[in-house]
Amino acid sequence: MNILVINAGSSSLKYQLLDPETGRLLAKGLCERIGIDGKFTYKPQIEGKAEQKAIDIPMPTHSEAIGAVLNALVDKDNGVLSSMSEIDAVGHRVVHGGERFASSVLLTEDVIKAIEACNPLAPLHNPANLIGISACTDVLGKETPQVAVFDTAFHQTMPPVAYTYPIPYEYYEQDKVRRYGFHGTSHRFVSQRVAAMLGRPIEELKVITCHLGNGSSIAAIQGGKCVDTTMGLTPLAGLPMGTRAGDMDAGVMEFLMNKYDLSIKEMMNILNKKSGVQGISGVSSDFRDLYAAADSGNVRARLAIDVFAYSVKKYIGAYAAVMGGVDAIVFTAGVGENNPALRSQIVEGLAYMGVAPLNETENARRGDEVDVSGQGSKVRVLVIPTNEELMIAMDTAEIVKQR
Ligand code: AMP
Repeated sequence: MNILVINAGSSSLKYQLLDPETGRLLAKGLCERIGIDGKFTYKPQIEGKAEQKAIDIPMPTHSEAIGAVLNALVDKDNGVLSSMSEIDAVGHRVVHGGERFASSVLLTEDVIKAIEACNPLAPLHNPANLIGISACTDVLGKETPQVAVFDTAFHQTMPPVAYTYPIPYEYYEQDKVRRYGFHGTSHRFVSQRVAAMLGRPIEELKVITCHLGNGSSIAAIQGGKCVDTTMGLTPLAGLPMGTRAGDMDAGVMEFLMNKYDLSIKEMMNILNKKSGVQGISGVSSDFRDLYAAADSGNVRARLAIDVFAYSVKKYIGAYAAVMGGVDAIVFTAGVGENNPALRSQIVEGLAYMGVAPLNETENARRGDEVDVSGQGSKVRVLVIPTNEELMIAMDTAEIVKQR
């Protein structure tokens, strides 16, 4: 099967063409500056190793972007398909499914209305995802089935005790203000890989998945179901991130807004774009830059790394308490997959709960699924590359087959 996976943002659109049965990636690319001028960077085919191309194409709307993607896929010299009819289905990443969507779903007019109803919960993301969906319908027609895969869906199994905010209950009842969590497709993908790696049924495992990237979140997954996660109503909660603050005393906002006469928009911009490890270090949101600076003696860069590692460790302890133990801790995403020093720092001192210091030979390996647990570790520590696009393609194929 050929599944086109689309991740549409307000002015960008990422895509991959995948075979979900084999996991084979056939082509991928990125449209940027949609509605401005339009820039298309793509690998028209992966296997034939066609060179990456970058071209400027006018993209007044997402429809032209989808058109450019499809043209590249069927290009007679470098494409991978002979016609658009070889696309069996399209899978869309949709950020917020509210309480309505606990799993992926075939897109119908009713489903699109229900996603629209979730727009207030993710006003920057959901409308863009919906534009991507309607652009695909414009260009591919209604015959090609489309599926929505939600960032929030996997976390819908959280119990009320984990998702209820301690504010007046009517804000939940009337406005659905609660913890939702994000990165669900990634947490689900890697938790399934844990079961495969350990050769044990997912139903009997307690897993803590650490998705550490520019945006970071942790999930507690018991028996294959999410029981708690660090992000909240929005992705601003939980760990400090590249530029997001994560958990913090809400009173800080009042203090700073009063002192500096900031509007709520300015305050939110600080918390989303100027905080996290970027804010602490004043150097960068990128961990590679932080390590380079810390290694040359930058004290604030070192502090930013330490605050981040400390926060991850704190949640590992909390989630082990929530589940009454842990069988495996997983590191994934850009930082989680590529930063051995940070992984070692995070699990340092956890021997009391069965996590031995890491096997540094294995910990230094890159690119694969690796068991980095140290000798005698009761808790397995695993590095698992995430693949949200493959998970979206797998869900899409399954839903389309069941139609
Ligand atoms: P993500 O949001 O998952 O793309 O992760 C971005 C973060 O991953 C950045 O802070 C990068 O420093 C880090 N990262 C990505 N690739 C590497 C790499 N090869 N080595 C070290 N860090 C990396």
